[in-house]
Amino acid sequence: MKPWPFEYHRANSIEDAIATLGRHGEGARLLAGGQSLIPMMNLGLATPDLVVDVGNLSDLAYVLVEDGVLRIGALATHNTIMEADASASACPMLVVAYHSVAHHTIRNRGTLGGNICHADPASEMPLVLTLLDASMVIRGARGERVVAAGNFFIDAFETEVEPAEMLTEIRIPAQAAGEGYAFEEMSQRKGDFAIVSAGCRLSIRKGQMTNVRFGLTGAGAQTRRMSVVEAKLEGAGPDDRLLAEAAELAVVNSDPSDDIHADAAYRLDLVRTMSRRVLAAAVRMTAKQGAL
Ligand SMILES: Cc1cc2nc3c(=O)[nH]c(=O)nc-3n(C[C@H](O)[C@H](O)[C@H](O)COP(=O)(O)OP(=O)(O)OC[C@H]3O[C@@H](n4cnc5c(N)ncnc54)[C@H](O)[C@@H]3O)c2cc1C
Repeated sequence: MKPWPFEYHRANSIEDAIATLGRHGEGARLLAGGQSLIPMMNLGLATPDLVVDVGNLSDLAYVLVEDGVLRIGALATHNTIMEADASASACPMLVVAYHSVAHHTIRNRGTLGGNICHADPASEMPLVLTLLDASMVIRGARGERVVAAGNFFIDAFETEVEPAEMLTEIRIPAQAAGEGYAFEEMSQRKGDFAIVSAGCRLSIRKGQMTNVRFGLTGAGAQTRRMSVVEAKLEGAGPDDRLLAEAAELAVVNSDPSDDIHADAAYRLDLVRTMSRRVLAAAVRMTAKQGAL
């Protein structure tokens, strides 16, 4: 299918992009890697009358570590981030999760900024960034604001970024030494969006789990950090029975619906299995690093 007619503007700076968005109003959309917006336009699901192409703003394609924070420019592609030494050293969980995101060719064009602004509830990165306590830098005509991942994702396909604003940077605090983490998903084919995915990170100090982060996609209408599961584990010893109980708690607190990919009962089964797996894997990882 072909998109509706639209005007095209290639931005030559962040300021130019923001000013153009501001002048044009709600009918304008930014174009980054085009891996979500172009299919949406071809299907008639997005009908912008102006597309502001920011894909050439290479100043925003960096991945670096500064003062214990992984800083990722909004236009860094998935593959650039996945392959960067800075990602591996500061946030290895991000790299592990990236192995489940799309196909190589899609990751060559798609950007992390575009991915999280699109905010597909089946997407891995909104969950991973939430579990990693990331924050997002959003720029508009009045300046810059920094929004925690927990507040950034408002609903399915809806974020804090206003129509005349642009996401410029993602900041992720470096993971603590000795921290355990795991990310798993079930999809119909490798590289497809997940039916259910689960992520967990935690540390163990003096035999007790601490800084527990746990969440799921595919378990409800949107990405969910499950604080009820985290609270059950925080401060407790990591025994197998408790981890199994925590996985059951994840099931009880999930509310998936039937769709063309899977029915709700199957998703709940996946929630149970994936939750158990990631919790056990994160504990095992801390044990291997001698943190128990
Ligand atoms: C076949 C296929 C399989 C895929 N599989 C997966 C998968 O398994 N998991 C997954 O997570 N994703 C998957 N994707 C989506 C992919 O990750 C996209 O690259 C990503 O969602 C969008 O990034 P983009 O740079 O292409 O953004 P674009 O498509 O250019 O833009 C997406 C949206 O974000 C907005 N936007 C872009 N950049 C900014 C910015 N800096 N500030 C404000 N708004 C901005 C745009 O206006 C648009 O609304 C898949 C895509 C395809 C085509």
